[in-house]
Amino acid sequence: MKYEGVLTKMQTELGNPIHYYLVFDTSFLNLNQVLGKTITITQIGSQCLNCGKNKKIFRQGFCYDCFYSSPAVGDWIMRPELSSAHLGIADRDLDYESKVQLQPHLVYLALSSEVKVGVTRKTQVPTRWIDQGAEQAIPIIEVPNRYLAGITEVALKSHFSDKTNWRKMLTNDILVANLIEHRNKVKDWLPEEVRDYFIADQIELQELHYPVLHYPSKINSLSLEKTPSFTGKLIGIKGQYLIFEDGTVFNVRGSEGAVVSIDL
Ligand SMILES: [Zn+2]
Repeated sequence: MKYEGVLTKMQTELGNPIHYYLVFDTSFLNLNQVLGKTITITQIGSQCLNCGKNKKIFRQGFCYDCFYSSPAVGDWIMRPELSSAHLGIADRDLDYESKVQLQPHLVYLALSSEVKVGVTRKTQVPTRWIDQGAEQAIPIIEVPNRYLAGITEVALKSHFSDKTNWRKMLTNDILVANLIEHRNKVKDWLPEEVRDYFIADQIELQELHYPVLHYPSKINSLSLEKTPSFTGKLIGIKGQYLIFEDGTVFNVRGSEGAVVSIDL
């Protein structure tokens, strides 16, 4: 079987285990069904996810020009505290930014290697947690816009990491931690503006189970730029990574915009 198309981040479906799909224009590949099988990934081109042109990818699947002009990749994406649509102030395109920023956001704790704090739109739960390879996650507050979530994350960064250690996540080197206990401690650390949004009721811890046959002890990251074609036996999928038997890991999201062919 052969699949061909522009790589975009894997689509997921909550389940035990989580289901992963690579979705192309006219076909899709259920990756769980490929576990234990050998596949070949070959890059045959690149296509910007924004303008659709056959251009070199700069970052996040976008070409250089789109990365510096599209409102979909403004600085407030990675740094939510810079959001300004709630003040009516545009970064690149106020209409777009209002739609994305002025909607319910969660600040959460997740356990992917250490305990980390993060921000997500409410509609992106549990997708966001799955994309990060979290084993467990729990919301702290729900706020009406991205700015309030951002300043909360900034305040909590002095107590928790805000990054996932992907090497530890992919070798399953995970700290033992009780997220509910951690969560119960954060109320005093919240900024004044958001204290009323603290979710006081009993909330459920989300547990996430990934389709992994076994974890490698050492890993090497595959770059299609350096190695345009790779063949390996798929032994797991976690976060946005494919894990192969020889310890090679492939960050699908990191290669968005690559035109690939996948042979099974
Ligand atoms: Zn472009």
